[in-house]
Amino acid sequence: MDRIMQGRMDRGFMRHQDEYENKALEVLRSGWYILGKEVENFEKEFATYVGTKYSVGLASGLDALWLAFKVLGIGEGDEVIVQGNTYIASVMGITINDATPVFVEPDEYYQIDVSKIEEKITDKTKAILVVHLYGQSARMDEVVRLCKKYNLKLVEDCAQSHGACFNGKMTGSFGDIGCFSFYPSKNMGAFGDAGAITTDDPELARLMKIYRNYGSEKRYYNMVVGANSRLDEMQAGLLRVRLKYMDEITAERAELAKRYAEGINNPLVIKPRVAEGATCVWHQYVIRVKDNRDNLMKYLDENSITTIIHYPIPPHLSEAYNYLGMKAGDLPITESCANEVLSLPIYSGMTTEEQDYIIDCVNSFKA
Ligand SMILES: *Cc1c(COP(=O)(O)O)cnc(C)c1O
Repeated sequence: MDRIMQGRMDRGFMRHQDEYENKALEVLRSGWYILGKEVENFEKEFATYVGTKYSVGLASGLDALWLAFKVLGIGEGDEVIVQGNTYIASVMGITINDATPVFVEPDEYYQIDVSKIEEKITDKTKAILVVHLYGQSARMDEVVRLCKKYNLKLVEDCAQSHGACFNGKMTGSFGDIGCFSFYPSKNMGAFGDAGAITTDDPELARLMKIYRNYGSEKRYYNMVVGANSRLDEMQAGLLRVRLKYMDEITAERAELAKRYAEGINNPLVIKPRVAEGATCVWHQYVIRVKDNRDNLMKYLDENSITTIIHYPIPPHLSEAYNYLGMKAGDLPITESCANEVLSLPIYSGMTTEEQDYIIDCVNSFKA
């Protein structure tokens, strides 16, 4: 068997290859490549999917995050609450605006521990950034309640949670703004960099369109210092194809996660669970191994299985955030996650044979 790679992307493309190729040719031949009908249609279709009034296409997930705080007016002197165990882009969305991240530890589902948010709220707190990590919704009932109680803005990082719900409502529709990435390896992947925001607020949608285009609504009339963060026609067109198959993609991942859950029985391995009320779209299948994680990773690698750690260095300990002055031990739960988690391969088009082989290898690992 060939090496099994975590995050493999070609099989998802091949399943609907003709449609992607036809769309690519259609866009190439249209003679129109930036801000046209593909982006407009994508924005309508994606908003409908998520269940919001508006969506605005952007160049990446990081842009969605930092522009979200920008249009909400959050900046220097403001604090934003975010979970400690996230991809560093979540935190950069805050700090690019010179706002200060305030970290909260995760719960046993790797989502923000809602029982630990309130103690972090100060008179400088302006927003909560919820990250639906690994594809599972955070406990949105409680997060929404706290935002109302303390009059905080709510931003959702949905880069890993396309289609995930809490109590039947889709992530990206709870907050003032939902931020999405369509980086190729995400559940809803483009074929290059791409992102979007969702919102019910027409003014926030309008501002986002201004910011993504050099701060101009009318050509050569610039109201604010913006960005060049437009979703291009090619990616928008290809994403419209991907969007049609999102239910299929999500169902396939659910089946793969179920097979892992049933098949893995090594007592050294802690399997992921889903909280009551939440659904998980299994962007990653993250197992946890106390003490022996690196040995298991090496063992799987020797057996031609590539796994990844999401994420080995938590943002508060990364060199980029030295200036925050935090040190090892400040977020013990976040730090133990970084030392113990391991993402097994899970991707569109994974075969039963491949998965059974991975399960056998995980089960035959000894400390
Ligand atoms: C991928 C990701 C991002 C960044 O998205 P890009 O499109 O790569 O900029 C942000 N947050 C999380 C949680 C992510 O997984």
